[in-house]
Amino acid sequence: MENKDQGAAQNHACASCKQQRRKCDETCEMAPYFPASRYSEFQNANKIFGVSNIQKIMAMAAPDQRQAAAESILTEGNARKNDPVRAVLET
Ligand SMILES: [Zn+2]
Repeated sequence: MENKDQGAAQNHACASCKQQRRKCDETCEMAPYFPASRYSEFQNANKIFGVSNIQKIMAMAAPDQRQAAAESILTEGNARKNDPVRAVLET
């Protein structure tokens, strides 16, 4: 696996807080599911869903389903990123 997230260690905010330029602390509910190391995937997902919808999805998911919900959100971001036609339409 390639290591493309070398800057992540310097940044304590999770991907969600980083995206929103918010302070991230131990009460952040997004941090366990969207670590800073997945920021680029989160950015792609943000373009599709928006942070507020991602938070809504996470809040609606049962606690034991949140990890799976987060994974599908991030996977969706990757799928769109790898679709050049879609990327052109959305930028
Ligand atoms: Zn956070």
